[in-house]
Amino acid sequence: MIVPFHISELLTRLRERFDENAINRALMASKREVRRLRPARRASEQSARRFWERILADTDANKADSEMILDPQTVADLPAYDANIENMIGTVKVPVGIVGPLRVNGIHAQGDFLVPLATSEAALVASYGRGADVTAAAGGISAALTYDGVLRTPAFKFGSAAETGVFLNWVVQSAEALKAAAEATTRHGKLVSLEPAMDNEICFLRCRFMTGDASGQNMVTIATSAMCEYIVANAPVKPRAWYVEGNYSGDKKGSFLGLLTGRGAKVTASATIPADIVRRKLRCTVDEMLEYGRVANLGSLLSGQLGAQAHYANALAALFIATGQDAACVAESAVGFTRMEDCDGDLMVSVTLPNLLVGTVGGGTGLPSQSAGLRILGLRGSGKRPALAEVAAALCLCGEISIVAAMAAGDFVRAHERYARHR
Ligand code: NAP
Repeated sequence: MIVPFHISELLTRLRERFDENAINRALMASKREVRRLRPARRASEQSARRFWERILADTDANKADSEMILDPQTVADLPAYDANIENMIGTVKVPVGIVGPLRVNGIHAQGDFLVPLATSEAALVASYGRGADVTAAAGGISAALTYDGVLRTPAFKFGSAAETGVFLNWVVQSAEALKAAAEATTRHGKLVSLEPAMDNEICFLRCRFMTGDASGQNMVTIATSAMCEYIVANAPVKPRAWYVEGNYSGDKKGSFLGLLTGRGAKVTASATIPADIVRRKLRCTVDEMLEYGRVANLGSLLSGQLGAQAHYANALAALFIATGQDAACVAESAVGFTRMEDCDGDLMVSVTLPNLLVGTVGGGTGLPSQSAGLRILGLRGSGKRPALAEVAAALCLCGEISIVAAMAAGDFVRAHERYARHR
């Protein structure tokens, strides 16, 4: 049965309560004056209190809400937030759970990690904890960062395809000068490849940067902008228009390009779980897990998923929030492939994430509680980003193992009912 809940049904229901004119009036552009907020570039107690006066006057929020969001610790820390937010009114408290030990035998991440996860989703921490427990009992998770490089893709519009051709020929000959212009803006950013993509009179330059320990989105934007300025000043044909990002890089959305070439770190992780551990700790068999895995892969194919995996986004969103990563980059980071194989009767599970954006310096990683989150992991600061990428992949692996087992054993709904305590 198809339930026809669409716009005409919605309108029919509305008409039961309002006449046609009232609906039309509600949908018309409003002429009422907009009382704009006076913006505050710097985070200060004075501006935060000024915003709260307005919020208390104009919204449902009350004094207790203001004291919750603009609490004394946040007031004391306000300067620390200055570079990360505008119009600051305080902080929200997201519950943080701890998972682990997560045993990682990585190229960069070595040891037992306690992983902070910030989430309001019941059962999430318990599920990753189960995956960590199972993989630790099996000896740990192998992990490797296999490729790296953050993309920015400026776009240039010319008068014709012929002009674009002349331009691209010049770009190839000028690659060293373009690299120097970009790298002049940063100590750690290195332009490692410049790949043109031409579409008639428009072309994109896929600029791939190594970004040290920063996730690098800002760094590559600033460097690419400097490179574009050099291009506009020196190219033999001037573009009619150019944009520092032509929406080609996959920034903050899942894309085929990201899946194929990555836009951040490409990282892979795997574990082989002995059959008796699958039985004891996951309450199902290797065959049952493989059987569900085949169905889930078909589901991925039929739905046109980018990649094939169950829920990397759960791990990444919670880890990103706890450690000061850009949460919007979950949109692009949570793509990849989960694989399960029979390994002489045991279960091999592997995850590959080609597009993971994480950093251990810069962005939100220096904020008060977010830097504490990175210190819990032992991964704050220079030299730690590759290890964080491997830990993130290992965490995703735990989630895949746990959810596949829950589905295979018929535990999925029961677990959520058990943990969703507010019911
Ligand atoms: P960032 O804080 O802008 O840059 C990282 C800074 O850390 C740079 O100043 C870099 O100096 C310095 N640094 C010190 N030690 C380093 C090390 N070992 N490795 C690398 N850098 C080191 O952060 P970002 O990672 O470039 O960008 C992340 C932020 O960008 C996030 O907050 C995200 O929300 C935001 N974002 C920006 C855009 C955009 O287009 N602008 C898009 C999406 C997201 P050097 O540069 O001199 O090396």
